[in-house]
Amino acid sequence: MKSIKIINGLVPDFEKMLMIQKDILLEDGKISQIGNISKEADINIDAKGKIVSPGFIDIHMHEEELDMTEKDPYFIAYYELKMGVTTCVGGNCGANRQSVEDFVGYIQQHGSPVNYMMYLGHNFLRSAVGVEDRYRASTKNEIEQMKKLVRKYVPTGIVGISYGIEYSPGIETEEIIDLARNLDSDKYLLSAHFRSDVEKSVEAITELIEISKMSKLPMQISHIGSCSAYGYMDEGLKTIIKARMEGTDIFADCYPYDAFGTFIGSAAFDDGCFEKWNRTFSDVLLTEDPFKNMRCTEEIFFKARKEYPDMIAVAFVMNESEIIQALQAPFVFVGSDGVYRKDSGHPRGAGSFPKVLSRYVRENKNLDLVDALWKMTQGPANRLRLDQKGEIKTGMDADITIFDSETIKDNATFEQPTLSPDGIDYVIVNGEIAVENNQVKNGRLGKFIRYSLK
Ligand SMILES: [Zn+2]
Repeated sequence: MKSIKIINGLVPDFEKMLMIQKDILLEDGKISQIGNISKEADINIDAKGKIVSPGFIDIHMHEEELDMTEKDPYFIAYYELKMGVTTCVGGNCGANRQSVEDFVGYIQQHGSPVNYMMYLGHNFLRSAVGVEDRYRASTKNEIEQMKKLVRKYVPTGIVGISYGIEYSPGIETEEIIDLARNLDSDKYLLSAHFRSDVEKSVEAITELIEISKMSKLPMQISHIGSCSAYGYMDEGLKTIIKARMEGTDIFADCYPYDAFGTFIGSAAFDDGCFEKWNRTFSDVLLTEDPFKNMRCTEEIFFKARKEYPDMIAVAFVMNESEIIQALQAPFVFVGSDGVYRKDSGHPRGAGSFPKVLSRYVRENKNLDLVDALWKMTQGPANRLRLDQKGEIKTGMDADITIFDSETIKDNATFEQPTLSPDGIDYVIVNGEIAVENNQVKNGRLGKFIRYSLK
């Protein structure tokens, strides 16, 4: 493996909450030296005027459905890599897009564009034991079968269990707690897509806090923006702060967009959704043929739900000021929630991290640069028990993103949701150059990372 020396760059120091100029040497996949480095390296990068950050960690995304008919089955992982993400956590919102074993097995054998970690999804388990009706609770017998599956998947190195309650409204709180308690360590992490949004969002957050208390497991509330950014963010954040002050381990993540995106056939678009959001059919954009980039009419909306339920739809329904408010909360990380079907989807999976750094750090000054970087690196690393990532320190994994804070910019749009950003010079994964000037040089440097219970 070639050694890499990066000189003159500004590195975030999360203890002092400052940017500090440091030279760093990468050898054998690790950061081997920091400071005055006399040793010669095989590759030299002059990062003068640039930010040398730990690689971004996307604690909330949706992995690809590996397409084995393609020469290269990855797609989302490339969009993530090109926006500076070096570690992704898939399996969120209760969903796995193939069995965890198959996904992990593929990465272990072939590598991956990014490092991957994986949740085990509750709705995936429900469907595996035959609960096809999303509006009913699981029976005792079905829950017992799911518990067996949890025990089967634990050895693959899962982060914990993810829930997608809104997607299966029949799920009872008891079922959630029962499964969570079946995990054999209190170090596992739960993540949950809440039960409902808008005026029921506070109730939904309270349920997730209860689940954390009852299961004695930490809880990661998924994309809090799409839960509460309809006039309810204030109350939602206060509810979390109160729980945290009482010792319940709650964090959340948020993507920097005021539109959400999910499958048009999902329960999120059930009857009553437009009344609740105070919006209408034309506030929903469809992303694939025969309706690609078309706003819905009543007729198209129902036709798409019936005939193309797996098509991703984008709903322009939230308030940006409340997304900013969420991103400013100290317990909220940046997480993309990126989800694509090949190149169709919501731009957040290709733009979230650069968008925070351009729009909310540089342009609007809603966040300080170091604070924003913490939410993308050390914050999620700590949460995921990744003691080798999230910080530029001797001995840490050499996952590095080098960018220009003056020019970094997301380019992905709702019409072209996979366009890669500007301003990212290098992305280094496990000590080797994965991306140079927006071009992928090596898309197999990532590994599967087993969740650590140590
Ligand atoms: Zn979700």
